[in-house]
Amino acid sequence: MKRKGIIIVVSGFSGAGKGTIMKALTAKYDDYALSISATTRDPRPGEENGREYFFVSNEEFEKLIKENGLIEHAGYVNHYYGTPRKFVEDKLSQGIDVILEIEIQGALQIKEQYQDAVLLFVMPPSAAELRNRLKGRGTETDEVIAQRLQRARDEAVGIENYDYIVINDNLDRAVEQVHEIIQSAHMAPSRNQEFINTIRNELNEL
Ligand code: ADP
Ligand code: 5GP
Repeated sequence: MKRKGIIIVVSGFSGAGKGTIMKALTAKYDDYALSISATTRDPRPGEENGREYFFVSNEEFEKLIKENGLIEHAGYVNHYYGTPRKFVEDKLSQGIDVILEIEIQGALQIKEQYQDAVLLFVMPPSAAELRNRLKGRGTETDEVIAQRLQRARDEAVGIENYDYIVINDNLDRAVEQVHEIIQSAHMAPSRNQEFINTIRNELNEL
């Protein structure tokens, strides 16, 4: 029986460690395709166009929206971010799980369109540790860090919309938990209806 691909949405405060977890998860397991978003923010040192993001202008981003090329998009601290449609639809139709690392407004747009999406929220072990990680990453100015922490306060209100929280204290454990959550989701009866029906029919024919 062919497995159907699941959309997994991973959100969490900036600096909680989503990117780090996704990198480790996809290095360890071949099962997952990571969607690459489009964004209007500038690349950080070490980021490459087409690897972490597709870095586009405001005009290009607005064109993508108009052409229905994004399955969701949102504004985040002065910039646009969005998920290209084609990659996600292609992977799902091939039975491959797709992970979207996106913020909360986008997550809710996905949940509306794909009711069986699994929504994960990555949490830091404490707020002080979140600030330490943001500062330690060294990629944003103090002003932008303050804006991202304010955004974290706003996003914290919406955590109950998610199916699971993952606390990123020990990185290896967080990676395993994400993997286990996704693998468990595949075992839900609703995702195995065809198999259940086959066994029912076989039982009737015994
Ligand atoms: P996000 O993608 O959620 O914004 P990052 O993955 O960029 O966060 O992580 C933010 C910072 O925290 C990075 O410097 C990263 O190396 C560090 N970090 C991530 N996970 C852990 C962890 N489990 N323990 C300590 N530091 C971590
Ligand atoms: P960063 O600038 O730190 O890479 O990302 C900022 C925020 O934007 C993070 O919360 C990240 O998850 C979110 N984000 C990244 N890509 C997308 C996307 O395609 N759509 C939405 N809605 N949010 C995204």
